[in-house]
Amino acid sequence: MKTFCGRANPTTGALEWVEEDEDYDYHQEIARSRYADMLHDEDRNMKYYQGIRAAVSRVKGRGEKAIVLDIGTGTGLLSMMAASAGADFCYAIEVFKPMANAAVKIVEENGFRDKIKVINKHSTEVTVGPDGDMQCRANILVTELFDTELIGEGALPTYEHAHKYLVQEGCEAVPHRATVYVQLVESRRMWSWNKLFPVRVETEDGEKIIVSPSEMENCPGVPSVCDIQLNQMPSSDFTILSEVLTMFSVDFSKPVRSASTCYRVQLEPVKSGKAQIVLSWWDIDMDPSGTINCTMAPYWVKPTSAFQWRDHWMQCVYFLPNEEWVLQGEKVLLTACRDEYSVWYTLQKAREEEENKADVRVESPVCRCQAHLLWNRPRFGELNDQNRTRQYIKSLMNVLRTDSICLCISDGSLLPVLAHYLGAEKVQYFLLGWFFFCCSSLFFKANHLEDKIKIVETRPELLASSHLEDKKISVLIGEPFFTTSLLPWHNLYFWYARTAVSEHLASDVTVLPQCAALHMMIVEFQDLWRIRSPCGTCEGFDVQTMDDMIKNSLNFRESKEAEPHPLWEYPCKSLSDPQEVLLFDFRKTVPQHCLSTEGSVNLLRKGKSHGAVLWMEYHLTADISVSTGLTQISNEKGNCEWNPHCKQAVYFFSSVIESETLADLPTAVTYTINFDTKTGEIAMDFKL
Ligand code: SAH
Repeated sequence: MKTFCGRANPTTGALEWVEEDEDYDYHQEIARSRYADMLHDEDRNMKYYQGIRAAVSRVKGRGEKAIVLDIGTGTGLLSMMAASAGADFCYAIEVFKPMANAAVKIVEENGFRDKIKVINKHSTEVTVGPDGDMQCRANILVTELFDTELIGEGALPTYEHAHKYLVQEGCEAVPHRATVYVQLVESRRMWSWNKLFPVRVETEDGEKIIVSPSEMENCPGVPSVCDIQLNQMPSSDFTILSEVLTMFSVDFSKPVRSASTCYRVQLEPVKSGKAQIVLSWWDIDMDPSGTINCTMAPYWVKPTSAFQWRDHWMQCVYFLPNEEWVLQGEKVLLTACRDEYSVWYTLQKAREEEENKADVRVESPVCRCQAHLLWNRPRFGELNDQNRTRQYIKSLMNVLRTDSICLCISDGSLLPVLAHYLGAEKVQYFLLGWFFFCCSSLFFKANHLEDKIKIVETRPELLASSHLEDKKISVLIGEPFFTTSLLPWHNLYFWYARTAVSEHLASDVTVLPQCAALHMMIVEFQDLWRIRSPCGTCEGFDVQTMDDMIKNSLNFRESKEAEPHPLWEYPCKSLSDPQEVLLFDFRKTVPQHCLSTEGSVNLLRKGKSHGAVLWMEYHLTADISVSTGLTQISNEKGNCEWNPHCKQAVYFFSSVIESETLADLPTAVTYTINFDTKTGEIAMDFKL
């Protein structure tokens, strides 16, 4: 059987459907899954176990048989905990077939075959009765169906259905309750992920300000959650405007309603400021009394001793539809609305009549300006990065002449506007799709540039002289940035597009950036290693079958793949110097042959070599560069600082070399890296 998988093609800049073996899809799912991270989450596992033990003994204490329903059993972990705690029988439901198969194996290996029945179904398909999947309804409901937003993986409809059809009234639930907390903050840094700030450009005719269209200013954005490792956000990057407030909670032991609803709290700001962002996280109480609590609270809210690193549950950043001034002590109302899968927030000034209004429903935000569909949050941040913009302005000033004919190839870019203000006679701007068109036309209109910058809505290979009024391009520019890019080298689409438009370039054309350099460094992660590292046993249960399954999926392709991670969220230290490994010269066309390199990189610090990090540096001109990766190694220990707007490529080594002293350190890691110009993909291999 074959399946189709969506994949960005770096040679065409398009998202394409690639035919793959049926296995490919699920290997990807497992290899990139959060199962390993969950099994490494000791705080979660320990508290689930405590909660399950307590629930089983409450039921047993009442003289009842303990019948457990574990929805989304994964490895079977929570069912094995229940069986060990003395449950009489467990129904372990798992919709994802490879996982259900693994659960069967793991349950058997741990000796629970008689106590646990694994059912490979979605819970809403499970039947109860003498001939059903379950003999009778359960009196203990155990699940772990939560994401960072709590409800994003469909916990509410699943609970609603389970209470109606699969469990007894008055059942015990582990977790017993979840509570969502919020805190109102002002943060220029986080707000820059949602709105485009005015850009100031010094030109020969004085200062020009690029403004965003009113449609964009007033756009409520998209309801998709922005989940981040909030613990990596320094307190200097935001101002707290309110106490931590309880927004809503869900009691999982009672019937749950998944239908859309709103919750409202009144708050008195502790400080005056611009209310822009609602930070949010949740906790779960494993027992009714709330003594077994597992919390996602960030560092400034909870003692550091309670800290557990995890990636499968982080914290949420919600953007208010508009920023609003709030005054210290002057009451405001914060409303959370949710549907079955997502939450969004609004803020109102507290007026008596509003407080009493029964219906506080606020519609889910819908992006009206297209920009929130075109750019993700890091991209907004990148466009608002003034230092970065300054580098582009400086380099454009170097290369533009008053008679320059300029062509820009990048998705949703400000470069054409900069180029226009900096004096290019004609600026043409390439567009690959309808989105870009809507968004960019709004943008050009707001800046009165409709007739100054011409949008060419075609593909590079279809560019005709008529599009360019029979002129040759003297300056070709790109950031480059393309929305389909996942890994740093996917933006090399710029090179392919440059190659496709070659015949339209003047013989002395300037290409900006003139080249891109792929850099690489060996690192030790503080925590990120957990997501790809075997677990062995978890709370005393043997889960090696899961480890093997992940390893097998990671090795499914002969050469392992690098994966994108925003490393500002995942601290690491460098064990080697950064090294340039490949150079892509945009002044020339893409060669027919592959670009390969091999070499070795010296290990300079002691530590665990978890993997290699790769990123691109763009040399805009001979002496102006921007890095999409490492910006600085900040101290002797090798702690790294990363570009906060980009994801870097992480290649995890299959075995970790560890060294306590420099003396027993292998001196180098050897590598081979191959850029296949036909596919635009990079394959690599490392030897420790
Ligand atoms: N219980 C395990 C795994 C949790 S991950 C543990 O705690 O370690 C959640 C799992 O639930 C995933 O494997 C997912 O495939 C499964 N799942 C989610 N919703 C489900 C549903 N309604 N019915 C059956 N399986 C579900």
